[in-house]
Amino acid sequence: MDSLNYTEKSNWISSQIAADLPLFTILTETDFFKIRPEILSVKTNDSITTIRTKFFLKNGDVHSIYVSLAKKIHANDTIYFLPYFDDYTSRFSKKTIGSIRYFFNPTEYSIDSAEANQMLVFNKKTAKLFKTKEIEFDYYIFKNTEERLTAEGYEFHYLTKKLLNHSAHADLNNNAIIVGKHTSTYPHEVIHLYTAQYYPQVHTWFDEGLAEYLGNDGKKLQKNRDIIKKFLEDSTINTRDILKLEDNLAKQGTSLKYDLGSLIVEKIQERDPESGLYDILRNGSDDKSFYKLVESKLHIKQENLMDSLLIWIK
Ligand SMILES: [Zn+2]
Repeated sequence: MDSLNYTEKSNWISSQIAADLPLFTILTETDFFKIRPEILSVKTNDSITTIRTKFFLKNGDVHSIYVSLAKKIHANDTIYFLPYFDDYTSRFSKKTIGSIRYFFNPTEYSIDSAEANQMLVFNKKTAKLFKTKEIEFDYYIFKNTEERLTAEGYEFHYLTKKLLNHSAHADLNNNAIIVGKHTSTYPHEVIHLYTAQYYPQVHTWFDEGLAEYLGNDGKKLQKNRDIIKKFLEDSTINTRDILKLEDNLAKQGTSLKYDLGSLIVEKIQERDPESGLYDILRNGSDDKSFYKLVESKLHIKQENLMDSLLIWIK
C-alpha cells in the first residue's frame, strides 16, 4: 500500500466534495453546467497529483483557478484528496478563548483580547436572541483576502483584488469562520453559523440581511447608501422582483443582498419587535415565502417593494 507520507499533519479524505469547502462555493458561484470548467494542467510528483482547474462566471469571465491535490491508493483503488486549507494552516498557532478556537500565524499576528471579548459577548447575545445553545466554533485569521484565498486553494480568484483588505466567510461544514483581515472579531459570520445550524430554511436575503443588521448595527448600510441608491435608480431592469436583480456590486465592496436585506430586516423588526425576528428565521427559503412575509409584516406587495426601498434608503 502506498504510504501517506506527503504530509502527516494533513487529513487525506476519500471524497473531494466532503473535503473541500471551496468546491461547494465554486459550484454555487459559477455557471458550472453551462460553461464547462477547463482543466489547465495535471501533474504528478511523488505520487501526488496536482490538478489546476479554471472556472467561469455566468458572463464568461474567469471566476477562479483552483488547485486540487489528489493521490490514488492502489490497495483500495480510491482517490484521496487533501484539503489544501488544512495543509496551509498546519503551521498556525491555536488559542482557545471561551467558545472560540482561534488559528493564526504567530509570526504575523496575535489575538486582540478586547476584540476576542467582543466576539464572545456577541456569540452569547446571538444564542440568546435566537433561543439556541451557544455555538463553539473555529476562527481562522489571514492577513488579507489574497492570503485567505491562497490558503483555500485558489491560485487566482476574481475577487482577490477587489476585496483585498477585507473579506470573510463562514465554513458551515466545519463550524468555522475564515477571515481575510487581521481582526479577532467578525460578528457578521457568527450569524451565518447560527442560521445554518438552527434555521437552515431562512431565505438567503434574510440570512445576509440579519448578518448585516445584527452584526453591524446597520452601520454598513449607512456607508453604502449612495452606491445602492444609485444602482436602484439607474437600474433599467424590470424591478418587479428585486431578488432577481443581478447583484454585481461586489466590485464596490457591497451587495444588494446585504444592504437591502438588512434594510428589510430592520423595517420588519421595527414593525414587529415581538416576533419579527423569529418569523424571519422560520420563514421558507423560496422567493414566494420571502415576499409573503414582507407583505404580511410591512403591508407591501412584491411589485411595490422597490419603491418602498427607494423611499427608505433616501
Ligand atoms: Zn454573509
